[in-house]
Amino acid sequence: MSRTVMRYVAHTIRPVPDLRVEARAFCLASGCSQESGLRDDPDEAQDWALRHTGRTGHDLFRRTFSDHARVTRAG
Ligand SMILES: [Zn+2]
Repeated sequence: MSRTVMRYVAHTIRPVPDLRVEARAFCLASGCSQESGLRDDPDEAQDWALRHTGRTGHDLFRRTFSDHARVTRAG
């Protein structure tokens, strides 16, 4: 007969600053479906949005960001 022992260990999760944050910007103007594409530098997605507004006048964007996180055992 087997027995399962569940042990709960406290962990913490933190961002990993050495790994880049990825970003993407989507234009929300009606009829426009342009987007920056996934950029591994958030500044590039921001620059794309600024250029897009300059070309089109579209001024509302949805932005997504993703970072990396590491879980470590607490204590
Ligand atoms: Zn647009």
